[in-house]
Amino acid sequence: MAYDNLKTRVVGVEIGMETTIMAIVDIRGNILAKSSFPTSNNPNVADYISRLSENIINLVESNGGYESIRSVGISAPSSNFCSGSIVNAPNLPWKGVIPLSAMLRDRIGMAVALGNNAHARAIGEQAYGAAHGLKDFILVTLGGGVGSCFFSNGQPHLGQDGFCGEIGHTCVEPGGRQCGCGNKGCLEMYTSAKGIVLTAKEIMATSEEPSLMRQVENLTFAQVVAFSHQGDAVAIEALRRAGTLLGMGLANYASIVNPEAIIFTGNVTHAGDWLFEPAKKEFDKHVFHNIRGKVKFLTSSLEEDEIDVLGASALAWEVEEYSLFK
Ligand SMILES: [Zn+2]
Repeated sequence: MAYDNLKTRVVGVEIGMETTIMAIVDIRGNILAKSSFPTSNNPNVADYISRLSENIINLVESNGGYESIRSVGISAPSSNFCSGSIVNAPNLPWKGVIPLSAMLRDRIGMAVALGNNAHARAIGEQAYGAAHGLKDFILVTLGGGVGSCFFSNGQPHLGQDGFCGEIGHTCVEPGGRQCGCGNKGCLEMYTSAKGIVLTAKEIMATSEEPSLMRQVENLTFAQVVAFSHQGDAVAIEALRRAGTLLGMGLANYASIVNPEAIIFTGNVTHAGDWLFEPAKKEFDKHVFHNIRGKVKFLTSSLEEDEIDVLGASALAWEVEEYSLFK
């Protein structure tokens, strides 16, 4: 084999609700070049694919060309690695089933891997971050939504249809808050950024507890965290309740899959100990006794604004190289 033909770079793409970010990433996870364009002003998916392929081609051509680029990996919400499709994404402009991998591959002539955010982050953390060297672990995304991916014996477990890991839509409060998925009482409704803000508002509406947050008109999750760090009792209580439900949900999860570690990613992790101390306490209370005390709680070691493109780039190595002759 001629070693000068080895392709050592991939393109990682993060499709976010607002912005699409793409980067050329080498085999060690170094970002060599980066660009972006708005996702949200492309209501038609065919137009979006055109813009995405133009942007990828521009980025590649202005940074060394195609010779060294092996494939493309994409991280997007509600994505299915097995089918290469985005499936009924509530937060993207395109409805129904979008066979994104095939559509993009046909435009750019490179293999395309597609995965949801949790799957891509888990692969990224295993390749370049906190999960490096771990074989059995759970990665949890705590942000606008709550998701997860778990690795078993070094491989991501995807499930029969690729929808494995939806911890955000497991029930922690029977008959509780209405979730966008159609069910009630889903974990995501209590431990996502939005869910924690709702809890803070609920506490203020049902108690006399003084709180600086009462003067804030459009309370955000970042403000709840900032107030908790100032010692605000309501903010701390909102995070404690979220942590408690999170700990219980994860204890059930860990009792089933027996992980070495749980890795937390996303902006909700900014709550720090106000969230994780009650979470750990509840986790230890409910987890199966033979694994109690053995599951590490870790936070991501990747930069928050790079974790999704890095994860997507790690995903790109999971597909076979595209060839017209296969
Ligand atoms: Zn749900």
